[in-house]
Amino acid sequence: MRLEFVTPERLIAHEEVDELQLPGEEGSLGVLPGHTPMLVALKVGEMWYRKGSEKFFGYVGFGFAEILPDRVTILARIAEKADDIDLQRAEAAKRRAEEQLAEVKRSGNEADYERARLALLRAITRLQVSQHARRR
Ligand code: ATP
Repeated sequence: MRLEFVTPERLIAHEEVDELQLPGEEGSLGVLPGHTPMLVALKVGEMWYRKGSEKFFGYVGFGFAEILPDRVTILARIAEKADDIDLQRAEAAKRRAEEQLAEVKRSGNEADYERARLALLRAITRLQVSQHARRR
């Protein structure tokens, strides 16, 4: 099946794939050719697709996927291929978010807590995606 994976800024992947997995709002969703048509909301998470015996990983930060029997279109708000993830930047974002969370524990500001929690989730997810890609 055809995979079209884009963000508003760039094309992430445009390939023929055998299988893929998406971070759906309701949980991760595996897709094989011939899947029932559906529209899926995506959360912050890891995605991967397989071409033959090779698996490719990517980071998705919200968006939608349209699944058709022979085509999957991922419209992500933010996304990166595993190889394009800057590890130092993700480590720095993780440290910053952890510091902010510690700070919020003292101030008790809920909006700040939520912002820091989401930033930490993005950073940890990027680090995981990169780690899984290196381990494949
Ligand atoms: P940071 O605090 O480092 O900016 P963030 O989680 O706030 O991280 P996002 O808002 O998710 O960043 O993304 C903003 C832009 O920066 C997007 O274009 C995204 O692809 C890119 N980006 C963010 N972090 C990384 C990273 N570690 N490696 C590569 N690109 C990144």
